Amino acid sequence: MRILAIGAHPDDLEILCGGTLARYVDEGHEVTMAMVANGDLGSFVHDREEIAGLRAEEARASAGVAGAEHVGLGVSDGEVNAASPEQRRLVVDLVREVGPDVIITHAPNDYMTDHNEVSKLVFDTSFLATLPLLETAHPHHGTVTPLFYMDTVTGLQFDPTEYVDISGHLETKLEMFSQHRTQLEWLRDHDGVDMLEQLRAVARFRGLQCGVDYAEGFRPCNVWLRATTTRLLP
Ligand SMILES: [Zn+2]
Repeated sequence: MRILAIGAHPDDLEILCGGTLARYVDEGHEVTMAMVANGDLGSFVHDREEIAGLRAEEARASAGVAGAEHVGLGVSDGEVNAASPEQRRLVVDLVREVGPDVIITHAPNDYMTDHNEVSKLVFDTSFLATLPLLETAHPHHGTVTPLFYMDTVTGLQFDPTEYVDISGHLETKLEMFSQHRTQLEWLRDHDGVDMLEQLRAVARFRGLQCGVDYAEGFRPCNVWLRATTTRLLP
Protein backbone atom coordinates (compact mmCIF):
# COMPACT_ATOMS: atom_id res chain seq x y z
CA MET A 1 0.00 0.00 0.00
CA ARG A 2 0.90 3.65 -0.33
CA ILE A 3 0.36 5.70 2.84
CA LEU A 4 0.19 9.49 2.81
CA ALA A 5 0.55 11.13 6.23
CA ILE A 6 -0.07 14.87 6.27
CA GLY A 7 0.86 16.93 9.33
CA ALA A 8 0.84 20.65 9.99
CA HIS A 9 4.45 21.22 11.08
CA PRO A 10 7.74 19.36 10.84
CA ASP A 11 7.65 16.99 13.90
CA ASP A 12 3.85 16.57 14.23
CA LEU A 13 3.74 13.24 12.43
CA GLU A 14 6.59 11.92 14.56
CA ILE A 15 4.75 12.95 17.73
CA LEU A 16 1.34 11.63 16.74
CA CYS A 17 1.90 8.61 14.48
CA GLY A 18 5.65 8.08 14.02
CA GLY A 19 5.64 4.52 15.35
CA THR A 20 2.81 3.56 13.00
CA LEU A 21 4.59 5.06 9.99
CA ALA A 22 7.81 3.22 10.86
CA ARG A 23 5.84 -0.01 11.22
CA TYR A 24 4.17 0.48 7.82
CA VAL A 25 7.61 0.80 6.22
CA ASP A 26 8.90 -2.30 8.02
CA GLU A 27 5.92 -4.23 6.71
CA GLY A 28 6.80 -3.31 3.12
CA HIS A 29 4.53 -0.32 2.49
CA GLU A 30 5.49 3.02 0.93
CA VAL A 31 5.08 5.99 3.26
CA THR A 32 5.12 9.69 2.38
CA MET A 33 5.44 12.15 5.27
CA ALA A 34 4.12 15.56 4.20
CA MET A 35 4.11 18.78 6.21
CA VAL A 36 1.92 21.68 5.14
CA ALA A 37 3.69 24.41 7.15
CA ASN A 38 7.43 25.00 7.23
CA GLY A 39 7.92 25.57 10.97
CA ASP A 40 9.15 29.14 10.57
CA LEU A 41 7.74 30.39 13.89
CA GLY A 42 9.25 27.67 16.09
CA SER A 43 12.38 29.30 17.50
CA PHE A 44 13.71 31.76 20.07
CA VAL A 45 17.21 31.85 18.54
CA HIS A 46 16.95 31.73 14.72
CA ASP A 47 15.21 34.03 12.26
CA ARG A 48 12.29 32.71 10.23
CA GLU A 49 14.26 31.74 7.16
CA GLU A 50 16.98 30.01 9.19
CA ILE A 51 14.60 28.00 11.31
CA ALA A 52 12.53 26.94 8.27
CA GLY A 53 15.72 25.66 6.60
CA LEU A 54 16.86 23.81 9.71
CA ARG A 55 13.46 22.25 10.21
CA ALA A 56 13.30 21.02 6.62
CA GLU A 57 16.67 19.29 7.18
CA GLU A 58 15.43 17.79 10.44
CA ALA A 59 12.23 16.52 8.82
CA ARG A 60 14.17 14.91 5.98
CA ALA A 61 16.47 13.21 8.50
CA SER A 62 13.50 11.94 10.47
CA ALA A 63 11.78 10.53 7.38
CA GLY A 64 15.12 8.86 6.57
CA VAL A 65 15.14 7.13 9.97
CA ALA A 66 11.70 5.67 9.20
CA GLY A 67 12.52 4.90 5.57
CA ALA A 68 9.78 7.25 4.37
CA GLU A 69 9.63 9.94 1.68
CA HIS A 70 9.48 13.56 2.83
CA VAL A 71 7.47 16.40 1.24
CA GLY A 72 7.15 20.00 2.44
CA LEU A 73 4.45 22.30 1.06
CA GLY A 74 6.08 25.48 2.39
CA VAL A 75 3.17 27.38 3.95
CA SER A 76 4.25 29.72 6.76
CA ASP A 77 3.37 28.79 10.34
CA GLY A 78 0.09 30.29 11.50
CA GLU A 79 -1.14 30.73 7.93
CA VAL A 80 -2.55 27.28 7.19
CA ASN A 81 -6.03 27.95 5.86
CA ALA A 82 -8.38 25.27 4.55
CA ALA A 83 -10.28 27.92 2.57
CA SER A 84 -7.22 29.10 0.66
CA PRO A 85 -7.57 28.14 -3.03
CA GLU A 86 -3.78 28.02 -3.36
CA GLN A 87 -3.34 25.66 -0.39
CA ARG A 88 -6.24 23.49 -1.59
CA ARG A 89 -4.56 23.05 -4.98
CA LEU A 90 -1.26 22.14 -3.29
CA VAL A 91 -2.88 19.36 -1.28
CA VAL A 92 -5.06 18.13 -4.18
CA ASP A 93 -1.90 17.79 -6.23
CA LEU A 94 -0.07 16.04 -3.39
CA VAL A 95 -2.86 13.46 -3.10
CA ARG A 96 -2.90 12.96 -6.86
CA GLU A 97 0.87 12.58 -7.07
CA VAL A 98 1.13 10.05 -4.23
CA GLY A 99 -2.07 8.16 -5.09
CA PRO A 100 -2.51 6.83 -1.54
CA ASP A 101 -4.49 3.82 -0.33
CA VAL A 102 -4.72 5.43 3.13
CA ILE A 103 -4.37 9.00 4.36
CA ILE A 104 -3.53 9.95 7.97
CA THR A 105 -3.91 13.48 9.27
CA HIS A 106 -4.73 15.59 12.33
CA ALA A 107 -7.95 15.20 14.30
CA PRO A 108 -10.30 18.15 13.69
CA ASN A 109 -10.07 19.28 17.34
CA ASP A 110 -6.39 19.45 18.21
CA TYR A 111 -4.77 22.20 20.28
CA MET A 112 -3.81 24.79 17.67
CA THR A 113 -5.23 26.28 14.52
CA ASP A 114 -2.70 25.00 11.97
CA HIS A 115 -3.46 21.42 13.04
CA ASN A 116 -7.21 21.88 12.77
CA GLU A 117 -6.96 23.69 9.44
CA VAL A 118 -4.82 20.84 8.05
CA SER A 119 -7.48 18.37 9.18
CA LYS A 120 -10.15 20.23 7.21
CA LEU A 121 -7.82 20.89 4.28
CA VAL A 122 -7.08 17.16 3.95
CA PHE A 123 -10.72 16.12 4.38
CA ASP A 124 -11.81 18.53 1.64
CA THR A 125 -9.00 18.01 -0.83
CA SER A 126 -8.82 14.22 -0.66
CA PHE A 127 -12.37 14.28 -2.08
CA LEU A 128 -11.64 17.05 -4.59
CA ALA A 129 -8.59 15.10 -5.83
CA THR A 130 -10.97 12.58 -7.44
CA LEU A 131 -12.77 15.14 -9.62
CA PRO A 132 -11.47 15.02 -13.21
CA LEU A 133 -12.65 18.51 -14.14
CA LEU A 134 -10.52 20.06 -11.36
CA GLU A 135 -7.26 20.51 -13.21
CA THR A 136 -3.89 20.52 -11.45
CA ALA A 137 -0.42 19.31 -12.45
CA HIS A 138 -1.39 15.64 -11.97
CA PRO A 139 -4.42 13.69 -13.24
CA HIS A 140 -7.29 12.97 -10.86
CA HIS A 141 -6.99 10.22 -8.23
CA GLY A 142 -9.32 7.27 -8.81
CA THR A 143 -11.09 6.86 -5.50
CA VAL A 144 -11.98 8.78 -2.36
CA THR A 145 -9.26 7.56 -0.01
CA PRO A 146 -10.03 6.19 3.47
CA LEU A 147 -8.89 8.75 6.03
CA PHE A 148 -7.70 8.23 9.61
CA TYR A 149 -7.36 10.92 12.23
CA MET A 150 -4.28 10.54 14.44
CA ASP A 151 -4.29 11.30 18.14
CA THR A 152 -4.33 14.84 19.53
CA VAL A 153 -1.24 16.06 21.36
CA THR A 154 -1.32 14.27 24.77
CA GLY A 155 -4.61 12.63 23.74
CA LEU A 156 -6.93 15.32 25.10
CA GLN A 157 -10.50 15.10 23.75
CA PHE A 158 -9.58 12.09 21.60
CA ASP A 159 -11.02 8.62 22.18
CA PRO A 160 -9.26 6.18 19.85
CA THR A 161 -11.37 3.47 18.22
CA GLU A 162 -8.34 1.89 16.51
CA TYR A 163 -4.93 1.14 17.98
CA VAL A 164 -1.59 0.27 16.43
CA ASP A 165 0.87 -1.74 18.53
CA ILE A 166 4.15 0.17 18.28
CA SER A 167 5.98 -1.77 21.01
CA GLY A 168 8.57 -2.83 18.43
CA HIS A 169 8.82 0.69 16.97
CA LEU A 170 8.85 3.00 19.99
CA GLU A 171 12.61 3.45 19.80
CA THR A 172 12.35 4.31 16.10
CA LYS A 173 9.63 6.87 16.90
CA LEU A 174 11.89 8.46 19.53
CA GLU A 175 14.84 8.40 17.14
CA MET A 176 12.70 10.09 14.47
CA PHE A 177 11.66 12.85 16.87
CA SER A 178 15.24 13.24 18.09
CA GLN A 179 16.20 14.43 14.59
CA HIS A 180 14.18 17.58 15.38
CA ARG A 181 16.96 18.98 17.53
CA THR A 182 15.70 22.57 17.37
CA GLN A 183 12.32 21.41 18.63
CA LEU A 184 13.68 19.50 21.60
CA GLU A 185 14.97 22.90 22.76
CA TRP A 186 11.94 24.90 21.59
CA LEU A 187 9.43 22.63 23.33
CA ARG A 188 11.48 22.71 26.52
CA ASP A 189 11.85 26.50 26.51
CA HIS A 190 8.44 27.51 25.10
CA ASP A 191 6.19 24.76 26.51
CA GLY A 192 8.19 23.36 29.45
CA VAL A 193 8.06 19.86 27.97
CA ASP A 194 10.57 17.04 27.65
CA MET A 195 8.98 15.75 24.43
CA LEU A 196 10.80 12.41 24.47
CA GLU A 197 9.37 11.71 27.92
CA GLN A 198 5.93 12.85 26.75
CA LEU A 199 6.03 10.58 23.68
CA ARG A 200 6.95 7.57 25.81
CA ALA A 201 4.20 8.36 28.35
CA VAL A 202 1.43 8.85 25.78
CA ALA A 203 2.42 5.68 23.90
CA ARG A 204 2.40 3.74 27.18
CA PHE A 205 -1.01 5.17 28.11
CA ARG A 206 -2.49 4.20 24.72
CA GLY A 207 -0.81 0.80 25.13
CA LEU A 208 -2.52 0.27 28.49
CA GLN A 209 -5.86 0.93 26.82
CA CYS A 210 -5.41 -1.89 24.30
CA GLY A 211 -3.28 -4.42 26.23
CA VAL A 212 0.16 -3.90 24.70
CA ASP A 213 3.32 -2.15 25.90
CA TYR A 214 3.13 0.89 23.59
CA ALA A 215 0.50 1.99 21.08
CA GLU A 216 -0.76 4.88 18.98
CA GLY A 217 -4.47 5.69 18.73
CA PHE A 218 -6.58 6.59 15.70
CA ARG A 219 -10.15 7.21 14.61
CA PRO A 220 -11.44 6.54 11.09
CA CYS A 221 -13.20 9.37 9.29
CA ASN A 222 -16.38 7.34 8.95
CA VAL A 223 -18.36 9.00 6.18
CA TRP A 224 -19.77 7.84 2.86
CA LEU A 225 -17.12 6.70 0.35
CA ARG A 226 -14.45 6.43 3.08
CA ALA A 227 -15.73 3.48 5.13
CA THR A 228 -14.28 0.04 4.40
CA THR A 229 -14.26 -3.51 5.77
CA THR A 230 -10.50 -3.77 5.23
CA ARG A 231 -8.04 -3.23 8.08
CA LEU A 232 -5.80 -0.51 6.71
CA LEU A 233 -3.73 0.32 9.79
CA PRO A 234 -0.82 -2.01 10.67
ZN1 LIG B 1 2.28 21.25 15.03
